Amino acid sequence: MGCVNMAYFIKNLQEGSRPAPIGYSSWIDYWERKTGRNAPKCHKTGCYEFATDGAHVQLEYGWDEWYIVPLCHKCNMQRGQSFVVEGPLVPVNPNNSIRW
Ligand SMILES: [Zn+2]
Repeated sequence: MGCVNMAYFIKNLQEGSRPAPIGYSSWIDYWERKTGRNAPKCHKTGCYEFATDGAHVQLEYGWDEWYIVPLCHKCNMQRGQSFVVEGPLVPVNPNNSIRW
């Protein structure tokens, strides 16, 4: 039995290509170590490609907080678009809470 993840309606940010924080090899590495989970597959609902990118997103109906979610490269290139992803969403600001 797999775990059921929360779904979030997000906007994929235009600004996606900043370097990962010091001590992390990539934004996916950041997401995996913060959540303690592996990110084998794109988190966009309905996409089953391998996750290659730690995408920068915001909640469509939320504040300005930036989050990381694993996406395949094709989905990550859909910049400025809004779609549904499975959580968790890991905040770029490490002082803020993960949305499980
Ligand atoms: Zn995808």
